[in-house]
Amino acid sequence: MAESWDCVVVGGGAAGLSAALVLGRARRRTLVVDDGKQSNLAASGIGGLLGHDGRPPTELYEMGRQELAAYPSVEVRTGTVIGGVRDDDGFVLELGDGRRERTRRVLLATGMQYRPPEIPGLAALWGRSVFHCPFCHGWEVRDQPLAVLGRGDRAVHQALLLRGWSDDIVVLTNGPAEFSDDDRACLAAADVAIDERAVVELVSENGELAAIAFGDGERLQRRGLLVATTLHQRSSLADDLGADQSDATPIAADPVDVDALMRTTSAGVFAAGDLSVPMPQVAAAIAAGSLAATAVVQSLLTDDYGLIGPDWRSHVNA
Ligand SMILES: Cc1cc2nc3c(=O)[nH]c(=O)nc-3n(C[C@H](O)[C@H](O)[C@H](O)COP(=O)(O)OP(=O)(O)OC[C@H]3O[C@@H](n4cnc5c(N)ncnc54)[C@H](O)[C@@H]3O)c2cc1C
Repeated sequence: MAESWDCVVVGGGAAGLSAALVLGRARRRTLVVDDGKQSNLAASGIGGLLGHDGRPPTELYEMGRQELAAYPSVEVRTGTVIGGVRDDDGFVLELGDGRRERTRRVLLATGMQYRPPEIPGLAALWGRSVFHCPFCHGWEVRDQPLAVLGRGDRAVHQALLLRGWSDDIVVLTNGPAEFSDDDRACLAAADVAIDERAVVELVSENGELAAIAFGDGERLQRRGLLVATTLHQRSSLADDLGADQSDATPIAADPVDVDALMRTTSAGVFAAGDLSVPMPQVAAAIAAGSLAATAVVQSLLTDDYGLIGPDWRSHVNA
């Protein structure tokens, strides 16, 4: 096995590339391993990222990789980390091609798997007129007839949220609504309609949503659909490295627990981006990656030169 890396960044999306930039500028031997499945690749543009509003995601990742090329201590490798163990004073990570890499720190930036409901026609529209986040894609469908697909409290929350982008909102509950009388009153007061019919298909025209098809054969014209989507870890890597999960949120089923410096509960393992944040957004992932990298660098300087930093365990448990 070759010389140890200072840090292996697992994942080269917004969080991982941002972290690698800061690590490279801090002259740290850094390996980024990325298998190229950033979660927003289906979207035609990134909404709400300062300086890059509307830029296609692939362009952003390519620009990030180009910036990293200026830093000789950083290597970006296409591949998959399939496992990892703690070893001596660091870690050994196993890659899909059989290589093993020793590293002093691990920064997990693996993103999350988004799981929207399985409805015929949804996959082809995902990331455009069918979306999980109005802050990302609401602007593009503003003032259009829109719908929310979901039930219970979360559907009420999403309908009232989306109300900021359009006056014409219908909640599609795809079966019994599970709304309390208060929920119904709240939605009625906001002029949000409820439709409990079975949704059988999303009908598209020219690659965008045109209508919702119901089990009774009728169609409802809609130009945008907000779907309740839950995020799940893409692999057991965080768990394998001893990083605990925090409680599930309405958005994330199994987020990795991090402190204010993006340190997990496992010393030497950091996490940034969707896998640990409550609000999945590119801007938040870039910020988290940057912050995590500064914490990695300082932790290495603590080991090497006695830089005074917060104690790992006491800080995590504070
Ligand atoms: C359809 C869609 C549209 C979106 N639109 C917007 C938007 O317009 N604006 C916005 O702000 N946010 C948007 N988001 C949210 C945004 O994409 C995420 O918050 C952001 O991409 C998170 O960045 P990340 O680096 O944490 O994860 P990702 O971008 O998902 O990157 C993680 C990377 O790690 C890799 N990886 C995972 N496991 C391994 C492994 N074991 N080994 C090697 N590599 C691995 C993945 O393949 C991937 O390349 C959207 C999300 C979706 C799903």
